[in-house]
Amino acid sequence: MHTIDHIYIDGAFVTPHGEERFDLFNPATEEVIGTVRLADAEDARQAIAAAKRAFPAFSRTTIEERIALLQRMHDAIVAREDDLFAAIVEEYGAPVSRGRWMTGHASGVFLDVIATLREYDFEPRMGSATVRMQPVGVAGLITPWNSNAGFICGKLASALAAGCTAVIKPSEMSALQTRIVTEALHEAGAPAGVFNIVTGRGDTVGAEIVGSPDIAKVSFTGSTAVGKGIVRAAADTLKRVTLELGGKSPSIFLDDADFAVALPLAVMAGFNNSGQACIAGTRLLVPRARLAEFEAMVVAAIDDIVSGDPSDPATTVGPMVSRKQWDRVQGYIRRGIDDGARLIAGGEGRPDGYARGWLVKPTVFADVRNDMAIAREEIFGPVLSIIAYDGDEDAIAIANDTPYGLQAYVFSADEARARRVAERIDAGRVAINSLKHDPKAPFGGFKQSGWGREYGVLGLEAYLEPKALLGLSG
Ligand code: NAD
Repeated sequence: MHTIDHIYIDGAFVTPHGEERFDLFNPATEEVIGTVRLADAEDARQAIAAAKRAFPAFSRTTIEERIALLQRMHDAIVAREDDLFAAIVEEYGAPVSRGRWMTGHASGVFLDVIATLREYDFEPRMGSATVRMQPVGVAGLITPWNSNAGFICGKLASALAAGCTAVIKPSEMSALQTRIVTEALHEAGAPAGVFNIVTGRGDTVGAEIVGSPDIAKVSFTGSTAVGKGIVRAAADTLKRVTLELGGKSPSIFLDDADFAVALPLAVMAGFNNSGQACIAGTRLLVPRARLAEFEAMVVAAIDDIVSGDPSDPATTVGPMVSRKQWDRVQGYIRRGIDDGARLIAGGEGRPDGYARGWLVKPTVFADVRNDMAIAREEIFGPVLSIIAYDGDEDAIAIANDTPYGLQAYVFSADEARARRVAERIDAGRVAINSLKHDPKAPFGGFKQSGWGREYGVLGLEAYLEPKALLGLSG
């Protein structure tokens, strides 16, 4: 059993003022594996005060000093890679390959930000003005459970690179990962108060951060519903807000696509992170004339997807993170059936051979209309919908007929044609004939998938405020 009873404020591990204990589960066994003592609003206030005290000195550090700190943070996370990997598998249920990727991502983001920082011009000329790109202030960073360590590190790296100090509110369901990340980052020797980590509930610690006049900027990754509440709560202090929210991403197969190449990629995009991915390609848009061929190939491809024990290297889809998430996914599968979609793979219940664990059968529906709930709402589980279209214009219209706009995938034998379609999709990223990620490229959503961008230069500028100096003679 893990007992986590410290938070991190002002450079020290301290006992929270909050007294609530929160159970941690292993999603593969449904067993309680530990408890975490949660911070409360008073702890959040202490953390904000520490970050505020640390801001004046840290905001004046040189780029080289910040690069050195980010490098030490990278090295410290690398040194704890095995522990972090074990925590991700135990507490989140990520399959081995995904867990390794997540572990590497948590350290890699520091190097990505260092690369951006080395090239970034903090004092560009614009007209006759010298523009100082100035750190915005104390940043509040709020993370979800589906990539907790990666988002703590990614958001913190960008905030520190800009010269901001930070208060981090990780997901309360990810306390094992948070403990390891916090211990590692502590070893990196940042000045006290530069970053503070307070695990607590969203409606207490999160709300305190969002409402505080001493927080200048909130970067939030999570659900669209909570994101909208954050915008409302942040309005009183007009703080800067970056939101990375949900998605309902289309994978568009143009009629010349080679399904043998494209379909495995699309299946990977759909079941990425066990389906608990904001960028999951969950709507498969297929030319009506090739539907039968596509369906047969999907059914065959699903046979190779193993939903099961995350510690088994053969597993590609792990359990859902919680009972609540499992119930939610099961509810959507039922809803799809009730709404008249045709199940061609998977369905309700656990995969064969499993009596416990929050496992879901990799599920694919055919005959889905884009107005059905399974095509409109983010399920956040391994459930895909095949939607037929007639002609490229129809495909583009269906792809854009969604409140979301985070990611899209386009597959075609003709790259120029795929590009023309990609240019008309309203999404923050469109991957063409690939599942490419680039840490220098902006990441974020159109429409209700968010506000602003993370990664690369735009991710850094999310923590900067431009100040134009006019009238200088030089
Ligand atoms: P969530 O919105 O329930 O919680 C996210 C975080 O916000 C948690 O730390 C939670 O404690 C906190 N929170 C909750 N209420 C709050 C409040 N009132 N004020 C401040 N903070 C509050 O989301 P989740 O269930 O943890 O994560 C799943 C969601 O995250 C999905 O919708 C998914 O699409 C989204 N997501 C988006 C991205 C992206 O980059 N776009 C990445 C991963 C996950």
